[in-house]
Amino acid sequence: MEGVLPPKMYQPFKFRLYPFPNQERELLRQFDELRFLWNHALEQRQEAWQKEKKSLTYVSQCRDLARWRAYDKGGIGRVYGHVAQETLARLDDAFQHFFRRVKAGGRPGFPRFKREVTSLAYPDSNGSAAIVSGRNGTRRLHLAMLGDVPVKVSREPPEGRVKTCAVKREGDRWYAVLTVEVPDLAPRPSAPSENPVGVDLGLSHLAMLSTGEPVEAPKFLRASEKRLSRAQRVVSRRKKGSHRREKAKVRLARCHTKVRDQRRDFAHKVTTGWVKRHDLVAFEDLSVPSMLGNGHLSKSIADAGWGMLRQMAAYKEARRSGRYVEVPAKGTTQTCSKCGKTADPPLALKDRTYSCPCGLVLDRDLNAARNVLARALAQVPGGTGESTPAETGPPSHRKGRRVRSEKREPPRGSEVAR
Ligand SMILES: [Zn+2]
Repeated sequence: MEGVLPPKMYQPFKFRLYPFPNQERELLRQFDELRFLWNHALEQRQEAWQKEKKSLTYVSQCRDLARWRAYDKGGIGRVYGHVAQETLARLDDAFQHFFRRVKAGGRPGFPRFKREVTSLAYPDSNGSAAIVSGRNGTRRLHLAMLGDVPVKVSREPPEGRVKTCAVKREGDRWYAVLTVEVPDLAPRPSAPSENPVGVDLGLSHLAMLSTGEPVEAPKFLRASEKRLSRAQRVVSRRKKGSHRREKAKVRLARCHTKVRDQRRDFAHKVTTGWVKRHDLVAFEDLSVPSMLGNGHLSKSIADAGWGMLRQMAAYKEARRSGRYVEVPAKGTTQTCSKCGKTADPPLALKDRTYSCPCGLVLDRDLNAARNVLARALAQVPGGTGESTPAETGPPSHRKGRRVRSEKREPPRGSEVAR
């Protein structure tokens, strides 16, 4: 096809920020303005719905915001306009999700009031957030209407437009997450895959490869995760509003950061190994809640790790002109990877081995991984270049963007970025 934009990739880069005291004060003040904005806009929507059965739109709330900003010059007026609008956009997202859940007959969680806001986002690629040079070879993160904040650039981002920038506080530390748009220059693979691999994500192993190689989370990560859930319990035990609870919260946030960092390091190591050895990596499409989902803690912990593995595998394969494929998850555990028959009776969660009348006796997860691989190879017919391009979308909170007044290309890639 002609006239199609080259595929784009979005890569997140996280940096530690070291705001000056006055910048920190201003950030905290803006968080509070945004919290107030969210709650106020939510209240307006509720009222409009209850009184007149009317749905307020993002656009109409933006118009109100503009008037309010002009009036309250020293308050919300000192927050960069699009940052404030982004809060309304997220509220709109929350309502769209809500309506979708109502329609689907699910349990509709109504958007909630916020007691605290710990991040803000610059949604534009117009230079309102950008890394600039400071004095003596230092670097600064320029944030429109906030100033140039000292930043430690640990890993140099590639040349490319900064698509979005989130500034957040985790415990007593500050971070920026830049999503950089990089042109996907890697030629699309056209040759058949030589060494493909299927990955089954599970709870007994973090992942199982179709080669029979299990991936286990390292002990130190398990230990940190335990510390994290302990810190979580301490916070919930302490009395609300108490000084001791606040202290426990800071400790909890530190645990969170530590686990996240360790998880990321580990995911980098694992995925780099995968893409070096395999020119095709296949995963199950887990965009629909998996069968395991019962809000279990072990599940939510594993989820976070899986998301990283998938996202990193996707962009690393793309960089090496490899393939990243997602296949329908339905039935991968309940199908024989040798003869293709469905298990009868179906495997229970506790069954660790798949045995089939055809003679196959195999580890349950390994069987699933082989099914994932088989489905992936069927999706890439003869490797004739009709593969799923391994595009990564921007971070997950930006899925399902509404169209805004400023023209932006639809930021959706595949389901990769969650
Ligand atoms: Zn069989």
